[in-house]
Amino acid sequence: AAKQTGKNKLVTYHPVLSPQPASSVEMETELRKAILENQLILYYQPRLELSTGKIICLEALVRWNHPKLGMIPPNEFIPLAEESGLILPLGEWVLREACLQKVRWLEAGILDYQVAVNVSPCQFQDENFSDKAIHIIEQTGINPAYLEFEITESSIMQNMENTIAVLEKLCKKGISISIDDFGIGYSSLNYLKHFPIHCLKIDRSFVKNIHSNKDDLAITNAIIHLGHALNVQVVAEGVEELSQLEILRETTCTTIQGYLLSPPVSVYEIEQSFHQYDNRPVMIS
Ligand code: C2E
Ligand code: MG
Ligand code: MG
Ligand code: MG
Repeated sequence: AAKQTGKNKLVTYHPVLSPQPASSVEMETELRKAILENQLILYYQPRLELSTGKIICLEALVRWNHPKLGMIPPNEFIPLAEESGLILPLGEWVLREACLQKVRWLEAGILDYQVAVNVSPCQFQDENFSDKAIHIIEQTGINPAYLEFEITESSIMQNMENTIAVLEKLCKKGISISIDDFGIGYSSLNYLKHFPIHCLKIDRSFVKNIHSNKDDLAITNAIIHLGHALNVQVVAEGVEELSQLEILRETTCTTIQGYLLSPPVSVYEIEQSFHQYDNRPVMIS
């Protein structure tokens, strides 16, 4: 790929030279090992409440720190984990690690925010999901009020009756539920009135061109007002530019996530950069 620079020169980007990609069978064996050998790592991305300027939540996002290939992003191994069934032990690892990290932060008296954990459709459909989750919560000693599960519309639509039972069980425990990538699933809005949902996360694809595309703006606006009417939090995902933030403020969006505030970062980095913000507003300008 090439990009035009200001002085009309062409800068060429070379693909990163990496070892031959392993076959999916090899990858599966390696991923199985990775889960057991602690090669997975959680990064955290803050969610900011616009009315107060305060961080209210950290989303845990898994990475695979591969001994030879380096840091592998989730989009390159979550699909394989879902196909192979490894998503179940992987998801348990993620939930346990996020709970343990939250307990560590509580004990250290820092980063007093909720922690959001992504739950894939396969994981959510597992009949033991809620029992396993509750077991991990009890084992780690986390107060479930600090925990949010991010699920997608496709998780919800697969087995509606079962979904209601699972969500109510989690909700009774005190766990919050958010709908991730809201607006891109092929689902009816009917579920919103039956299910205990705390938050809608507007998919990044709508937020991306909010400042230049009136359809994206209209959809974002509609989701925000739907959220207000249903009395749930609305998060705009993927906010990268101030111009997007300004529009989101005007459309009365309650919370944002995105590179403008921070990309997902390591525990070390989030402790370094956000500890100082504890209980003080974060200024973005
Ligand atoms: P997601 O849950 O919708 O997470 C948001 C993704 O958007 C993250 O990518 C994040 O780095 C990226 N992002 C955040 N802000 C911006 C922005 O301003 N601009 C752009 N261009 N991107 C932004 P990431 O970490 O690569 O994760 C991708 C997806 O992988 C996640 O989408 C989620 O569906 C899945 N995933 C990540 N961690 C887990 C996990 O622990 N379990 C499961 N089941 N899925 C996970
Ligand atoms: Mg998410
Ligand atoms: Mg999302
Ligand atoms: Mg996603």
